Amino acid sequence: METLYRSTRESASQTMTSSQAVLQGLTPDGGLFVPVTLPQADFDFDQLAQADYQTVAYEVLKLFFTDYTEAELKSCIQAAYGTQFDDPAIAPVTKHGKQYYLELFHGPTIAFKDLALQILPHLMTTAAKKNQLQAEVVILTATSGDTGKAAMAGFADVDQTKIIVFYPQAGVSAIQKQQMVTQVGENTYVVAINGNFDDAQTKVKELLNDRELHAQLAANQFQFSSANSINIGRLFPQVAYYVYAYAQLIKQGQIKNGDEVNFSVPTGNFGDILAGYYAKQLGVPIHKLICASNRNNVLTDFFNTGVYNKNREFFLTSSPSMDILVSSNLERLIFYLTGEDPKQTASLMTDLQTKGSYTLTPAMRQAVTEFWAGFVTEGQDQHEIHHLYAHHHYTIDPHTAVASAVAKQYQAATKDQRPMVVVSTASPYKFPKAVLAAITGQDHDVDGLAAVDQLHALIKTPIPATVDNLRTAPVRHHQVTEPDAMAAAIKTILKLN
Ligand SMILES: *Cc1c(COP(=O)(O)O)cnc(C)c1O
Repeated sequence: METLYRSTRESASQTMTSSQAVLQGLTPDGGLFVPVTLPQADFDFDQLAQADYQTVAYEVLKLFFTDYTEAELKSCIQAAYGTQFDDPAIAPVTKHGKQYYLELFHGPTIAFKDLALQILPHLMTTAAKKNQLQAEVVILTATSGDTGKAAMAGFADVDQTKIIVFYPQAGVSAIQKQQMVTQVGENTYVVAINGNFDDAQTKVKELLNDRELHAQLAANQFQFSSANSINIGRLFPQVAYYVYAYAQLIKQGQIKNGDEVNFSVPTGNFGDILAGYYAKQLGVPIHKLICASNRNNVLTDFFNTGVYNKNREFFLTSSPSMDILVSSNLERLIFYLTGEDPKQTASLMTDLQTKGSYTLTPAMRQAVTEFWAGFVTEGQDQHEIHHLYAHHHYTIDPHTAVASAVAKQYQAATKDQRPMVVVSTASPYKFPKAVLAAITGQDHDVDGLAAVDQLHALIKTPIPATVDNLRTAPVRHHQVTEPDAMAAAIKTILKLN
């Protein structure tokens, strides 16, 4: 059956194919694309347990991207999940202590966003061909550190595309910054913002909806799209690793087909965990999805009180990719909690825009059954890194540590003994300064590659090649701007003036 897409904010009379939705990114009314009807899956997990990642990915993607041919999807998957990953399993599941770790950091930028952003450009260029698009696709992205780099790694020198990335000048790690400013590719543009991630993301959303700018672009043979996690071409490929992880646990003899498991997910924009929610809807035996936050605990409060309130202090933490107060993908969950009511969804999103907060109805609160939420302080985060290293000789990054620690909170609070899979979203070498401090219990006056080397001397895990390469990579991007000057920066890059 064909899976068509509609907006979370308007009636289902206006639909698009999956390839059109991939090209568009956002719906014209500012809402997000959701399937008109959720696809039906009939996963044979015993069989999938013997399958490689690419095969599992195909079984998942064919449910969501129904206007792509089998050959097109398989070619996208081959291009995305190949030797650019340093582990042939792509997303290996390991066990340390009582918890399982689904390692999503074996790709070119050593963070989980590679799982989505290695495939998005291929889904997009295939979609452009299918829809006879003449214009050049301009990817506009705000990043809290990992998205921008992963998107550029995916789009660099891909035909008929340009990518412009905005990142908060003071909100990313030294390694993240170095990865960004050394990005190669004739079609990549990187601009630092004097502001935080929310400033950058809000502005990017505004520009993606700016009619005048769109018209100006169209007149110059350009079309905007987004690589942010709202694009279905990013969201749904992420469902694959939940299916794969479950199948791998069967393969390893850790569970039997049908046993329920929990996933703990370090959450920012709510994309990763939403993919888990879809995996559950498709029949993966998931009991709870643990929504793990750092001090920016707007989601913890949301799940525990039914009130989403972004009017609060914003903290810079050692898990910067989760330093977010507006989680874009949450709109899709809201849509489901309303019973797929676009009017009610739109009205809550208007509340968010005008008042900075919204409140779930009692019926909606009752509908939240799949999630459990918690958060950790910086001290608890450090403690978790230290504990895993000291007791299990396993080193995790500060984002993964948030999920690992909140998973334990959940188990202590509920006594739930089901197997727990911690979604492991970044390599410790991406955040070496914070990891070093956590393990040794002291601040080290080093950062960047010097910190990588010190960390390596301590933990001995091989340094990923992509980090080693930064030693000699020349800086190619120098631009810094105010959030209000982002539109002007784009026009200059595209030579629209
Ligand atoms: C982006 C990111 C997250 C948060 O994922 P969301 O899909 O935005 O919730 C967590 N950890 C790392 C390392 C990330 O890069």
